[in-house]
Parts: sequence; C-alpha cells; structure tokens
Amino acid sequence: MPLIVQKFGGTSVADPQKILGAARKAIRAAQSGNQVVVVVSAMGKTTDHLISLANEITDRPNSREMDTLMSSGEQITIALMAIALESLGYKAVSMTGAQIGIKTDNTHTKARIKSISTDSMKRALDAGKIVIAAGFQGINDNGDITTLGRGGSDTSAVALAAVLNADECEIYTDVDGVYTTDPRILPEARKVSQISYDEMLELASLGAGVMHSRSIEFAKKFGVTVHVRSSFSDSEGTLIVATPESDSPVAGCAVAKNEARLTLVGVPDKPGNAMWLFSRIAEAKIATDMIVQNVGLEGRTDISFTIPATDLTATLDVLNIVLDEIGAERIDYQEKVAKVSVVGLGMESQSGVAEKMFRAISKQKINISMITTSEIKISALVSLEDASETLRAVHSTFELQKTPVNLNKPETSSMQSISKVELNVAQISGMEDIVIESINLDRRQARITLPEVPDKPGVAAEMFERIADAGIIVDMIVQSCGREGKAMISFTIPRDILQKALNVANELTKEWGSIKPQFNAEVAILTVRGTGLRSHTGLAYRMFKTLADGNINVNVISTSERSISITVNDASGENGLQLLKKEFAAEIM
Ligand code: ADP
Ligand code: ASP
Ligand code: MG
Repeated sequence: MPLIVQKFGGTSVADPQKILGAARKAIRAAQSGNQVVVVVSAMGKTTDHLISLANEITDRPNSREMDTLMSSGEQITIALMAIALESLGYKAVSMTGAQIGIKTDNTHTKARIKSISTDSMKRALDAGKIVIAAGFQGINDNGDITTLGRGGSDTSAVALAAVLNADECEIYTDVDGVYTTDPRILPEARKVSQISYDEMLELASLGAGVMHSRSIEFAKKFGVTVHVRSSFSDSEGTLIVATPESDSPVAGCAVAKNEARLTLVGVPDKPGNAMWLFSRIAEAKIATDMIVQNVGLEGRTDISFTIPATDLTATLDVLNIVLDEIGAERIDYQEKVAKVSVVGLGMESQSGVAEKMFRAISKQKINISMITTSEIKISALVSLEDASETLRAVHSTFELQKTPVNLNKPETSSMQSISKVELNVAQISGMEDIVIESINLDRRQARITLPEVPDKPGVAAEMFERIADAGIIVDMIVQSCGREGKAMISFTIPRDILQKALNVANELTKEWGSIKPQFNAEVAILTVRGTGLRSHTGLAYRMFKTLADGNINVNVISTSERSISITVNDASGENGLQLLKKEFAAEIM
C-alpha cells in the first residue's frame, strides 16, 4: 500500500478549524488508498510564546528544560489532530517523539536525529490508523526530551518519510510552494515548479525559511520526493527533487536578516590559530558562514565570519576565551547586517553571475561589506537597512520573475541517495551523520589578492566586470570586511591566465591609488564534497585541524552545504589531499 507523509506547519494548525481542515486533507489521502502519517508543528506562534515565557524569567535558561518546555507545543497539536480525525470518523493515534522512538544526540535545542524506529508506527498503520507524529522533537539516550532546532518539524517529516520509505512527503504551509525568493518580501517572486535538492538546501541554509535546511539533507540523502504546497488550497505546489527546474544560472535568491558579523582582530599569523578558533565555535554547535581571513600585516591577521544573530551571545562567550588563548588584540562585531545570496546549479557551468550581481547592487549605491562564493552560491553582506533593496535588485537582474524556457522534467531519484540496504544500516545509527562524496585536489589555480581596495559601493562590480571583459573566468572570490575605509579582495583564476588577470588588477589599483596586487602563481584547491557540510559545524574545523597538524597553511576558504574548499600552496596540495582522505576515510561514501 502506498504511504504518504503530510506535514502541517504552525499557521496550518493555528486553531481548531484549521486543525479540522488539515484532518480532512489526511482523510482524503487515506481515502485514495494511502497509509498516512501526519506530522504537526505547534499551533500558530506557540513556540515563540513558550520561549518568551522562559525569557521573562532569565535570558540564559537551561537548555534541557527549554526542550521540555518547547516540545509541549507539538504535544498539544497531536492530541487535537487525533481528536479531530476521530470526530470525523477516522481511526487515529497521536505519538510523541519518544513514543515513536526518534533517538537524537544530546545537543539540547539543536539535536540531530540518530535513528528512528518504525515498529510502533507500522503497527498502528497496519491496524488502519492514521499516525499523528509530533514534529521537532526526539529523545536522547538518557530519555530526556530534545528538540531539533527552530523550524525542525520539516526535518521530522522528511526523516519519517525516509525511514518509512514513503512515496512522497507533502509539506503543507502558508505559501503554495517554493518561490524564487520570499514572496512576503518581494511580491514579484515566482513560484517554481521544481527545485533541486542542492539548490533548496543552499537556499534554506541561507535564509529561505520555507524549509528547515536539515530536512533537505535527509531528502537528498535518502531520495525522498518533497512536495511543498498550500494548506488552504488544492493547487499543485513545488517538487523538491534531484533535477533543477531549468539550466538557468540562478534558481533563486535569499536574504538572512538575522545575521551578525564578528571579527577577531590582530590574530598572530601562525598555522593553527584559525583552526583553534573554529574548533571552539564548532564545539558550541554554532554554524559559521562567510569566513574571511585578511592577508597578514606585521605578523597579524583579522578573521571575520558571520553567524545567526541568535547565536551572538554564545559566540561572544567563545571568542572571549579564544582571544586570551591565542593572544589576539580584540573582538569587533556588527549586528544589523544581512546576507543576500544567489543560488543555482547552473552557475557551475556558466560564468558572469558574480559581476552581474555586484553590478546590480552597486547601481543601488549599496556597499557590500563582505563577499564569499562557492560553486553554486554567491553571498554578499550588506547593512540590514539595505537588505530588501539588495534582494530586489538581485532578483530583478537575473529576471527571476520570468518563467525560464526549457523546463526540465522532475527526476525523483537522486544520484547520491542511499539504497535500501544502506537505509537499513542508516536506521540503526547516525541517520543524520555526515556523508562525504569525494575529496579532490585542483592544481590548476593561481590566486590574486588586492590588499587595500576602497571600501565603497561599486568596487567589486567594477573589478569583476573589468576582469570578465578581459575574458577571464574567476573561481573563488572573497572580500573581507572593511577596516579604516579599506577592504581586501582575493580570488582564484586558472594559472595560464594569471598574467592577464594581474594586468587588469594592476590597472585598477593604479586608478584607485592603492597597494599593488599580491599573487601566488601556484595554489592548489582542496575540496571536500558531501551533503549538509556547513550545518555539520565540526567539518570545516576538522579540515583546518588536519591541515594545520600537517603544517599546511590555509589561505582562502569557501564553505557551502555541498562543499568546503580551501586554497593551500601548490607544494602542499598532494600531502593535504592524502591527509584529508585519511581523516575522512570512515565517512566517504
Ligand atoms: P510553517 O509554519 O508552515 O513551517 P514557515 O513560516 O516556516 O511555515 O515557512 C513558510 C514561509 O516561508 C512563507 O510564509 C514565506 O514567507 C517564507 N519563505 C521564505 N523564503 C521562501 C521561498 N523562497 N519560497 C516560499 N516561501 C518562502
Ligand atoms: N514549532 C517549532 C518551531 O516553531 C518547530 C516547527 O514549527 O517546525 O520552531
Ligand atoms: Mg517552517
């Protein structure tokens, strides 16, 4: 018998009438011959309300107790949903995370799923019942309640769909699908018919709140077809599958408005210091993004990165310790910043996206304070007040409101998805463990660094346009956050066109009256590929540590959910590759 998992988010179960509406959708699926598992969130804004109650008592509540508190929201909804189904004449049973057997690790408020037992759900389904599962929660080995992080019910739903080998996982929400960007911010955004796992994962982790990013890790890993659709209509939504909607370079853009930028200023420039900093942050399970290290001046460098603003207090606590441990000068941070990102699989094979994005932003006279790129995304940090305007400019420059020609057909099976046999193994342990697909070494690159470019609107646009006009295709780009009116830009290019690129860089620095470009004619790029790499906070740290232990200095870093790349000196490339292969031997697929 086919099996379908349906998830209803907070607004979709906000009151008893809406719960009845959701119950009717579940009944319809059952009447069409499916076994049905319904996953629910807490009603409306219940979780926010519960958190604010605790915050009225203290701003540092105990995290175990926070989980007990927050999980109560979903417990209310499962009971009401079961009551609603029975009132409509259907057999149903509610189950908490513990009753199902959703085992997690011990990281309260951000727990990861280790395993899910299917026995109790299957018994209920075989007895003809609709199973109502509480989203967002599990239990650890001590039997304590844990939660999966805000928005985590999506992850519960897709994980249940994976272990039950469901035919589809429907995510019912207050929008009728995934849009090219948040339609509440830009009404001109377009609903996409389908989006690839890789693009959705990146967008979700860069601020597209429609899906919890970790749910897409599951979907990709286990090949679950996810259908995002409206709770309040029957229209077709968006399929999240292996193939992108079209081969356009950009599939969507996102803004993360709750970001903070931190800089550790004056870090003694020796191998291992960056590693130590990120190891401490990873221990606190804080996901960093946009990591940028300045070129060392007088033996000291600045290391900047962004984090979700909700982690600011915790990160400052960590940085205060690290400051003393490594003898850095001071901590600098900025709260009201926003990260605007474009994402698309087509970027891998089509150039020109970066300069087009920077130009669109500079036309609005908006200053970009940091830039990082990876194969399928480009992120720019701007001030919070410029966030929506930046998003609008970027959305319109890539004409995301228009339906692309040559639409692809949905391909549901993911190349990387784990086969049935492996699925059984995954059920036993570490469902959410990291999976690494490959580790590669690219020895065809060179790096150029402009140590002091003016920190003002239009600089990045001008630079990368001039480089593109010279027919040069740039790979990684990072721009550090400005200090005393100056910023630093580094990028990598193929070695054979180094001289050509240097000519352009020289001309520009002459025009700007700034320091001459520096370069390294032979850099190697080490790339680890997998799924959910950025959200597994320990991975970048393990890469740094492995390389630092091997006395290999790291230069430019680029992180995304799908890959983490690090440039090193060419001479260290082969050694670095072997060290990384050894370090990750157990996790390579
Ligand atoms: P739920 O409570 O159902 O989980 P969420 O509020 O978590 O709902 O997610 C739905 C919201 O996500 C939408 O109302 C929309 O504002 C926001 N959103 C952000 N980015 C996107 C996007 N790219 N496409 C659709 N919705 C988006
Ligand atoms: N109720 C939880 C939250 O608000 C989980 C969820 O809705 O997905 O974050
Ligand atoms: Mg949600």
